[in-house]
Amino acid sequence: MRPSVIAYLGLGANLGDARATLDSALRRLDQTPGIVVTARSAYYRTAPMDSSGPDYTNAVAELQTLLSAPELLQCLHLMEAEAGRERPYRNAPRTLDLDILVYGDGRIDSPGLTIPHPRMGARAFVLIPLAEIAPRRVSTEQLMSIQEQAIERLP
Ligand code: AMP
Repeated sequence: MRPSVIAYLGLGANLGDARATLDSALRRLDQTPGIVVTARSAYYRTAPMDSSGPDYTNAVAELQTLLSAPELLQCLHLMEAEAGRERPYRNAPRTLDLDILVYGDGRIDSPGLTIPHPRMGARAFVLIPLAEIAPRRVSTEQLMSIQEQAIERLP
Protein backbone atom coordinates (compact mmCIF):
# COMPACT_ATOMS: atom_id res chain seq x y z
CA MET A 1 0.00 0.00 0.00
CA ARG A 2 1.11 3.55 -0.69
CA PRO A 3 2.50 5.37 2.38
CA SER A 4 0.55 8.35 3.58
CA VAL A 5 1.98 11.76 2.77
CA ILE A 6 1.60 15.08 4.57
CA ALA A 7 0.33 17.77 2.25
CA TYR A 8 -0.64 21.41 2.71
CA LEU A 9 -3.47 23.01 0.77
CA GLY A 10 -4.34 26.65 0.27
CA LEU A 11 -8.06 27.43 0.26
CA GLY A 12 -9.62 30.67 -0.93
CA ALA A 13 -12.97 32.11 -1.95
CA ASN A 14 -14.22 35.59 -2.82
CA LEU A 15 -17.69 35.04 -4.24
CA GLY A 16 -20.87 33.99 -2.45
CA ASP A 17 -20.73 32.92 1.20
CA ALA A 18 -16.97 32.34 1.23
CA ARG A 19 -16.80 31.10 4.79
CA ALA A 20 -19.58 28.55 4.33
CA THR A 21 -17.93 27.36 1.11
CA LEU A 22 -14.57 26.86 2.85
CA ASP A 23 -16.26 25.14 5.83
CA SER A 24 -17.93 22.68 3.52
CA ALA A 25 -14.74 22.17 1.45
CA LEU A 26 -12.83 21.24 4.63
CA ARG A 27 -15.58 18.81 5.67
CA ARG A 28 -15.72 17.34 2.20
CA LEU A 29 -11.92 16.86 2.11
CA ASP A 30 -12.00 15.08 5.45
CA GLN A 31 -14.77 12.77 4.21
CA THR A 32 -12.86 11.85 1.05
CA PRO A 33 -11.44 8.32 1.12
CA GLY A 34 -7.66 8.54 1.40
CA ILE A 35 -7.66 12.03 2.98
CA VAL A 36 -7.67 13.05 6.64
CA VAL A 37 -7.56 16.77 7.54
CA THR A 38 -5.09 16.89 10.45
CA ALA A 39 -4.94 20.66 11.02
CA ARG A 40 -6.46 23.83 9.69
CA SER A 41 -5.71 27.50 10.20
CA ALA A 42 -8.12 30.26 11.16
CA TYR A 43 -9.77 32.16 8.34
CA TYR A 44 -8.05 35.31 7.08
CA ARG A 45 -9.34 38.21 5.02
CA THR A 46 -7.07 39.49 2.25
CA ALA A 47 -7.36 41.85 -0.70
CA PRO A 48 -7.41 40.15 -4.12
CA MET A 49 -3.86 39.55 -5.41
CA ASP A 50 -3.44 38.48 -9.05
CA SER A 51 -7.25 38.46 -9.05
CA SER A 52 -10.21 40.84 -8.73
CA GLY A 53 -13.56 41.33 -6.99
CA PRO A 54 -14.35 41.35 -3.27
CA ASP A 55 -11.84 40.51 -0.52
CA TYR A 56 -10.87 36.86 -0.19
CA THR A 57 -11.36 34.54 2.73
CA ASN A 58 -8.33 32.23 2.94
CA ALA A 59 -7.10 29.32 5.02
CA VAL A 60 -4.47 26.58 4.92
CA ALA A 61 -5.13 22.93 5.77
CA GLU A 62 -2.77 20.09 6.59
CA LEU A 63 -3.71 16.67 5.25
CA GLN A 64 -2.51 13.13 5.53
CA THR A 65 -3.27 11.51 2.24
CA LEU A 66 -2.91 8.23 0.42
CA LEU A 67 -3.68 9.94 -2.90
CA SER A 68 -0.91 10.74 -5.35
CA ALA A 69 -0.41 14.46 -6.08
CA PRO A 70 -2.23 14.24 -9.47
CA GLU A 71 -5.10 12.33 -7.81
CA LEU A 72 -5.30 14.98 -5.11
CA LEU A 73 -5.36 17.75 -7.74
CA GLN A 74 -8.14 15.93 -9.61
CA CYS A 75 -10.16 15.73 -6.39
CA LEU A 76 -9.62 19.48 -5.78
CA HIS A 77 -10.72 20.36 -9.32
CA LEU A 78 -13.88 18.31 -8.83
CA MET A 79 -14.62 20.14 -5.58
CA GLU A 80 -14.01 23.53 -7.25
CA ALA A 81 -16.41 22.59 -10.05
CA GLU A 82 -19.04 21.39 -7.56
CA ALA A 83 -18.78 24.70 -5.70
CA GLY A 84 -19.82 26.41 -8.94
CA ARG A 85 -16.36 27.62 -9.90
CA GLU A 86 -16.31 29.21 -13.33
CA ARG A 87 -13.25 30.32 -15.25
CA PRO A 88 -14.57 33.11 -17.50
CA TYR A 89 -11.07 34.60 -17.73
CA ARG A 90 -7.68 34.11 -16.09
CA ASN A 91 -7.59 35.00 -12.37
CA ALA A 92 -11.33 35.76 -12.28
CA PRO A 93 -13.04 35.97 -8.87
CA ARG A 94 -13.88 32.51 -7.61
CA THR A 95 -16.35 30.64 -5.42
CA LEU A 96 -13.59 28.22 -4.43
CA ASP A 97 -9.88 27.97 -5.16
CA LEU A 98 -7.90 24.99 -3.90
CA ASP A 99 -4.15 24.76 -4.41
CA ILE A 100 -1.63 22.10 -3.42
CA LEU A 101 1.11 24.06 -1.68
CA VAL A 102 3.31 21.21 -0.50
CA TYR A 103 3.10 17.44 -1.06
CA GLY A 104 5.55 15.65 1.22
CA ASP A 105 9.06 16.29 -0.04
CA GLY A 106 7.73 16.12 -3.57
CA ARG A 107 8.94 18.31 -6.39
CA ILE A 108 6.78 18.19 -9.48
CA ASP A 109 7.07 20.33 -12.57
CA SER A 110 4.57 19.10 -15.12
CA PRO A 111 2.31 21.18 -17.41
CA GLY A 112 -0.73 20.88 -15.08
CA LEU A 113 0.95 20.68 -11.69
CA THR A 114 3.85 22.45 -10.00
CA ILE A 115 4.82 21.52 -6.43
CA PRO A 116 5.78 23.26 -4.23
CA HIS A 117 3.28 25.83 -5.48
CA PRO A 118 5.40 28.38 -7.37
CA ARG A 119 3.87 31.52 -5.89
CA MET A 120 3.32 30.42 -2.30
CA GLY A 121 6.49 32.08 -1.00
CA ALA A 122 5.33 35.55 -2.06
CA ARG A 123 1.79 35.50 -0.70
CA ALA A 124 0.78 36.55 2.79
CA PHE A 125 -2.55 34.71 2.40
CA VAL A 126 -0.57 31.46 2.17
CA LEU A 127 2.41 32.11 4.45
CA ILE A 128 0.54 33.55 7.46
CA PRO A 129 -2.01 30.71 7.78
CA LEU A 130 0.71 28.15 6.98
CA ALA A 131 2.91 29.62 9.73
CA GLU A 132 -0.03 29.33 12.13
CA ILE A 133 -0.32 25.53 11.70
CA ALA A 134 3.22 24.62 10.59
CA PRO A 135 5.62 27.33 11.82
CA ARG A 136 8.73 25.42 10.79
CA ARG A 137 7.61 25.48 7.16
CA VAL A 138 7.89 29.29 6.94
CA SER A 139 11.11 31.23 7.39
CA THR A 140 11.56 34.59 9.08
CA GLU A 141 12.88 35.94 5.76
CA GLN A 142 9.67 34.87 4.02
CA LEU A 143 7.55 36.54 6.70
CA MET A 144 9.62 39.73 6.41
CA SER A 145 9.16 39.78 2.65
CA ILE A 146 5.35 39.86 2.85
CA GLN A 147 5.07 42.44 5.64
CA GLU A 148 3.47 45.05 3.36
CA GLN A 149 0.56 42.80 2.38
CA ALA A 150 -2.62 43.50 4.37
CA ILE A 151 -4.10 40.44 6.03
CA GLU A 152 -6.65 40.22 8.84
CA ARG A 153 -7.22 37.14 10.99
CA LEU A 154 -10.96 36.59 11.31
CA PRO A 155 -12.52 35.66 14.66
P1 AMP B 1 -6.27 28.12 -10.51
O1 AMP B 1 -6.86 28.98 -11.59
O2 AMP B 1 -5.54 28.86 -9.42
O3 AMP B 1 -7.24 27.14 -9.94
O4 AMP B 1 -5.12 27.22 -11.17
C1 AMP B 1 -5.02 27.03 -12.57
C2 AMP B 1 -4.25 25.74 -12.86
O5 AMP B 1 -3.06 25.68 -12.12
C3 AMP B 1 -4.99 24.47 -12.53
O6 AMP B 1 -5.77 24.03 -13.60
C4 AMP B 1 -3.87 23.49 -12.22
O7 AMP B 1 -3.74 22.48 -13.20
C5 AMP B 1 -2.62 24.34 -12.20
N1 AMP B 1 -1.71 24.06 -11.09
C6 AMP B 1 -0.37 23.95 -11.21
N2 AMP B 1 0.20 23.68 -10.04
C7 AMP B 1 -0.81 23.62 -9.12
C8 AMP B 1 -0.85 23.36 -7.71
N3 AMP B 1 0.28 23.12 -7.02
N4 AMP B 1 -2.06 23.36 -7.10
C9 AMP B 1 -3.19 23.63 -7.81
N5 AMP B 1 -3.22 23.88 -9.13
C10 AMP B 1 -2.04 23.87 -9.79
